[in-house]
Amino acid sequence: MTHSLPTRLAHAGRTASVPGGQPVNPPVVRASTVLFESVAQQREMRARRDNERLFTYGARGNPTNFALEDMVTMLEGGYRTRLFPSGLSAAAMTILAYVRPGQHVLLPDCVYEPVRNLANGFLRQHGITADFYAADGSDLAARLRPETRLVYVEAPGSLVYEMCDLPALAALAHAHGALVAADNTWGSGLLYRPLELGADISLMAATKYLGGHSDVMMGTVCTTEAAWQELATVADAFGMTVSPDDAYLVQRGIRSLGARLAQHQEGAMAVATWLRERPEVAHVFCPALPDDPHHALWRRDCHGTNGLLSFTLRAQAPVAAERFVDSLRLFGIGASWGGFESLAVLADMRRARSVTDWSAHGQVIRLHIGLEGVADLLADLEQAFAAIDNIASIQPEQDHAHHR
Ligand SMILES: *Cc1c(COP(=O)(O)O)cnc(C)c1O
Repeated sequence: MTHSLPTRLAHAGRTASVPGGQPVNPPVVRASTVLFESVAQQREMRARRDNERLFTYGARGNPTNFALEDMVTMLEGGYRTRLFPSGLSAAAMTILAYVRPGQHVLLPDCVYEPVRNLANGFLRQHGITADFYAADGSDLAARLRPETRLVYVEAPGSLVYEMCDLPALAALAHAHGALVAADNTWGSGLLYRPLELGADISLMAATKYLGGHSDVMMGTVCTTEAAWQELATVADAFGMTVSPDDAYLVQRGIRSLGARLAQHQEGAMAVATWLRERPEVAHVFCPALPDDPHHALWRRDCHGTNGLLSFTLRAQAPVAAERFVDSLRLFGIGASWGGFESLAVLADMRRARSVTDWSAHGQVIRLHIGLEGVADLLADLEQAFAAIDNIASIQPEQDHAHHR
C-alpha cells in the first residue's frame, strides 16, 4: 500500500544516527515529542522520570541539555544541575524552590539588583519576607530568624566585589536550619567553588563567562544531593527548559572557559594597577589588588580573578563619569559582561545598596576587560581621561561658587 504524500512527509527523514565515526561534540537534539516503543514503555518512563534523568518530553530536557548539565555539575562540583532560560530565572527559581510563604530569606546587600527587586516585589506579594545583610556577612547572626529558610550569598558581590567568609557563614546558617545558595556568576566554577566552601546550592548566569560570546541567555543551578529534589520539583512544575541550540552554544563556550578567564584576568590586572596610578581616580575596586579590603578572603577562597573591575573618579560631578564613558571608543556601553569584548557601565551605588551607606561615593564606573590587546585598552582609557580633564579642574570652582 502506498501512503499519501502527507503521510510519507510525516515519517520521512527520521534517521537519528549514520554509520561511520563519532563527532567530537554531542549532536543538537531538537525535540518536543519523544516517541516510545509501546504504551507500557511510556508508562514506565513517566513513573521513573521524577527521580531519574530520562528523555521523555522536551520540557524535561533533551540529550544536548543533559550533556551541558553534566559539564556544569563538573564545574561546580555538585550532584546534579538544571538549566534555566536566564541567570535571573535561575536565581528566582532557586528562591521559590526552597522558601515557602511565611518563611524568610536573607539576601546580601551586594546582591545582583534584579534579585533585590524580585525580593521587594514579587516575593513580598507572595508572603515570602526578604531582608538584607551586610555584604561581608558581619551582621548575619543578628538577622537570622527561626523562619529563615535560605541564606543567599553573592561573592564577590555585584559592582564592587565584596567578599564574605562563606565557610563561616554556611556554618552559621546550617546551625539555624537554613540552606545556603550562592550566586557563582563571578567565579564561573573555575575561580570560586561555593559548594566546596559549604553552600548547598550554586547558581550561575551562563550568559556571562560560560557562554562567553554575548550571544546566549542561560542560567544554571547545581546542588548537593540533599538539596536536589526541591529544585527539580519546582523546575518541572514551572516547565523550565532551554533550547538545545542555546545549550550547544554554552557547551562550546565552556570548552575555552579556562583560556578566556586567564586572558581576562591578565587584562583586568593590568588595567586595575594602571588605574590606581591615575591622579583622576579616587578608588579602584578589585579584590585581587593587594590593598583591597577583601583581598585576604579572595586569596583564601578564589583561584584567580576575572575581567571585572570598578572605579570612582575624584571629580564628583556626575557629568565627569558620564563623559568619561561616552568618550571611550573600544569599550561598549551595555549591560551584562563575560563576553570577548570590553564594556563600561555606570552604576549608582546608593541605589544598589541598602545596608551599607554609599552616599560618600559618586558613581561607580564598572569595566569588563575583554580579549582585546591591553595596550589598546589603556590608550583608550588614557584618551577618555584627557576628555574629562577640563571637568575635573573646573568642578571645585563651581562647587565653591555654589556653596557661597
Ligand atoms: C548577569 C547576572 C545575573 C543574571 O543573569 P542573566 O542571564 O542576565 O539573567 C545574575 N547574577 C549575577 C551576579 C549577574 O551578574
